[in-house]
Amino acid sequence: MSSSLFAKRTLGQPHCFCKVEVTLRYSSTTRNPGRPFLGCPKFNTRGSPYCKFFKRIDSNEEIKFQLQEFNNELLNKEKELQKILDDVEKTKNELRKRVDDVEKREMVVSTREMVLLEKETDLGMDAH
Ligand SMILES: [Zn+2]
Repeated sequence: MSSSLFAKRTLGQPHCFCKVEVTLRYSSTTRNPGRPFLGCPKFNTRGSPYCKFFKRIDSNEEIKFQLQEFNNELLNKEKELQKILDDVEKTKNELRKRVDDVEKREMVVSTREMVLLEKETDLGMDAH
């Protein structure tokens, strides 16, 4: 599967200077507490360098961004589900093969039993 296919399905979110999709954050300054803004997702993560991307947004954009994130999350879940479904399908096929094998073996056994039964009745006939 090409990655462009997935890119088309996800709603485009702006990227920060390190070319990563930005995350919604809230300012923690005492002057403007809880103000939404878009920032580098690597900020505050241990060890990873981050950039100084900063974009203040209003509450409409905040909701839009949250919806986009939610939508992308759903798409990811859909992809995960598809993977699980593929696995289930594979397991189903394997099980079907095994059932076929068992059925074949049962057929062989039952024909052998038939032959044995025929032999027994033959013997019984001979005894008379
Ligand atoms: Zn960044």
